[in-house]
Amino acid sequence: MSQKITLAQLQQWLLLFADAIDANKQLLTELDAAIGDADHGINMQLGMTKVRERVHSLADDSHDISAFLRTIAMTLISSVGGAAGPLYGAFFLRAARDSVQAGAITLTELAQMFRSGLEGVQQRGKAQPDDKTMVDALEPAVRALEEAASRQEEVETALASACRAAEEGMRHTIDMEAKKGRASYLGPRSIGHQDPGATSTYLLIKSAVEAFSNNHADGSP
Ligand code: ADP
Ligand code: MG
Repeated sequence: MSQKITLAQLQQWLLLFADAIDANKQLLTELDAAIGDADHGINMQLGMTKVRERVHSLADDSHDISAFLRTIAMTLISSVGGAAGPLYGAFFLRAARDSVQAGAITLTELAQMFRSGLEGVQQRGKAQPDDKTMVDALEPAVRALEEAASRQEEVETALASACRAAEEGMRHTIDMEAKKGRASYLGPRSIGHQDPGATSTYLLIKSAVEAFSNNHADGSP
């Protein structure tokens, strides 16, 4: 199985995520209004608008996935206020540090990249699964990717499993009591609401399904 995910597809992923954030800005704002301060949609849109501009300004001849991920991290860290920006930044920064300096990666390397990103988020935010954060969408998705990679599944199938896992994790946050971030100030009153960060993370994985499934050799969509 030599199916690879190209840098062009990773770029497409971030562009599709930026579009998904635009389309769901209101939803993310409403979710954050219920258990936070109603700025998650705005924070993410601000950051992803900067990321979109950055992706468009990249040279066509770039072929270093690690450098690309670092650029995304720095853009998010420098442009997004609130908790989520630095956490998404930590995801991409750690993913960059542990990624290969190559123009394409295998499913196994993608799973490793996501595992590193999750470690970055957890090191920065100290959240464990069931704390009602983005970790609750990300962690099951990472596990699904790793399992798919170990079974040598097609990229498309692997991403579909990861997306289902992220969606399930996102839905499970409704029943959780927040232990980290602003929502934790509400204590048990945070129960019954879906976590905004888990929702944006589900959109991140959903965007990857679309971007990585069209697996042409040159990575063109
Ligand atoms: P803020 O909480 O500063 O207003 P946002 O509204 O942009 O920032 O982001 C809120 C989201 O960030 C939460 O829904 C949660 O998923 C995530 N989050 C907050 N704190 C943490 C943490 N310590 N670890 C992981 N995720 C967190
Ligand atoms: Mg907020």
